[in-house]
Amino acid sequence: MLTDTPPPKANRAKFFESDRLTSLDLPQNGSLLEVSHSIEMGMADGNTALARKHCDELLTKLSRFYGVPDCGIRVLAARPLRVRERWTSELFGDYSPDTMLIRVWMRTAVRKEVTSFGTFLSTLCHEFCHHLDCQKFPFPDSWHTRGFYERAGALYHSARGTPPKRLFWTPAFGERWRINWPRTNRGR
Ligand SMILES: [Zn+2]
Repeated sequence: MLTDTPPPKANRAKFFESDRLTSLDLPQNGSLLEVSHSIEMGMADGNTALARKHCDELLTKLSRFYGVPDCGIRVLAARPLRVRERWTSELFGDYSPDTMLIRVWMRTAVRKEVTSFGTFLSTLCHEFCHHLDCQKFPFPDSWHTRGFYERAGALYHSARGTPPKRLFWTPAFGERWRINWPRTNRGR
């Protein structure tokens, strides 16, 4: 995972505000766990309609919790041939700020491999964080900053019931950052 390049002057302050916002309030009652487990069951059966129903349930809970408008959800069997170019790093889903629609897909485009549940749920949380950036936070450009990845990761671990992971970063070209996975996985 690589962060976006900071934008030129006008939006720079907002970009770094997003970069510094590394925490996110999370629903505390474990209510996300049951729903994410239902999504997993739907996926295991290859049941796109059922997976969609439970994704919608999860997103509705989240939208209520954060006090943002509901977003739409489309679960596709396979990655569409044409994917929005707004964020080129989106491999397993996308979000349109204009229509507030999240799309996620259960299979990759070329090799038709089934997306793992972890990747699928992580994508869903990632796309919902774009929705939060646009509807709750003042980040309409919803950059992939370090803070964005931290927020998306916190949401994912909360929904999956796994312990939160501190992310470690390595500087990359053009004022960007790349996740240092060996350090992140070691936890130090
Ligand atoms: Zn994204």
